[in-house]
Amino acid sequence: MAKKEWSIAIAGATGAVGNQMIECLVERNFPVGKIKYLASERSIGKILEFKGKPVPVELLSHDSFEGVDIALFSAGGSRAEEFCPSAAKAGAVCIDNSSAWRMDPDVPLVVPEVNPHAIAQYRKKGIIANPNCSTIQMVVALKPIHDYGIIKRIVVSTYQAVSGTGKKAIDELRAQTGELLNARPAEVKVYPHRIAFNCLPQIDSFEPNGYTKEEMKMVNETRKIMEYDIRVTATTVRVPVFYGHSESVNIETEKKITVAQAFELFRNAPGCKLVDDVSKGVYPMPIDAAGQDLTFVGRIREDESILNGLNLWIVADNIRKGAATNAVQIAEILVEKYLQ
Ligand code: NAP
Repeated sequence: MAKKEWSIAIAGATGAVGNQMIECLVERNFPVGKIKYLASERSIGKILEFKGKPVPVELLSHDSFEGVDIALFSAGGSRAEEFCPSAAKAGAVCIDNSSAWRMDPDVPLVVPEVNPHAIAQYRKKGIIANPNCSTIQMVVALKPIHDYGIIKRIVVSTYQAVSGTGKKAIDELRAQTGELLNARPAEVKVYPHRIAFNCLPQIDSFEPNGYTKEEMKMVNETRKIMEYDIRVTATTVRVPVFYGHSESVNIETEKKITVAQAFELFRNAPGCKLVDDVSKGVYPMPIDAAGQDLTFVGRIREDESILNGLNLWIVADNIRKGAATNAVQIAEILVEKYLQ
């Protein structure tokens, strides 16, 4: 008989994504039996809640995972590298939000609307990777287009919210904005430059090819998830927005896709919502996407400079669909199809 309730650990429960994972488990009525919150020494003594009941935060350690069925990790790359193998050894299936395991050939990289079948590969290492937030929303939107007309090339520029860097960056944008509006100097701690009233064409560090790590994640992860040799080039930009990443995406397809056809594809696409009525000034915006689980698509136009091209504007909540919701959706498929 199928097990009805599951023992869950959240590593990084005190962070921006961890907090959202707690909310997602409750909102989606995930069958949680026991729950464990794990974080660093800094958080020992903190009490968080689950469904109104207090849960103390424990120290993340190699012994944290006995009796845990699913370990949701959002504690950064080095913690994922160090602790996912111990969790998997103790019998927990890890779903990791960091970039540590994403390109490991023995670890599936999953977006449930795009490649849910890949979850079956979790047995190799006991780890499933959640993709980068910018990649998730782009592939959710591009999957129906690719299935219909085969995407050959993607040119993407992102406008990414500070919450993508975690709770310290949210605090920094708030503090800098307040200081500058009061004509006081703004302290710069998290980013290489001031983020308030600014745009930074650098997310993560630079690679020898001149691209940032974030840009190369979009290139490599898209190809792994879509299981297709798509040419991708990306420019990723941090903007002074709290929640919600936006993307300007130009695609070239094998088959011609008209705007009307694209509208029809998005009306029926899982996880997507078409928001496109430019005559009334209607298009996706981060202020509307924040707090939602869907990926919003609009400003759909034919690219008149090539034979088969489209321009799209794609917006989603980076903490929800870009991280926590996607991880919980994977956990839902795991318990329904793979764990007993
Ligand atoms: P965050 O707000 O800074 O939270 C980081 C979490 O990791 C906190 O719970 C922190 O615990 C914990 N942690 C840090 N060092 C630790 C250590 N030595 N031992 C145990 N726990 C430790 O960051 P976040 O935005 O939630 O991101 C978490 C992960 O998700 C990162 O790998 C990030 O790349 C990934 N991710 C984030 C987003 C996003 O939109 N934010 C999207 C996709 C993926 P303390 O509170 O005790 O320090």
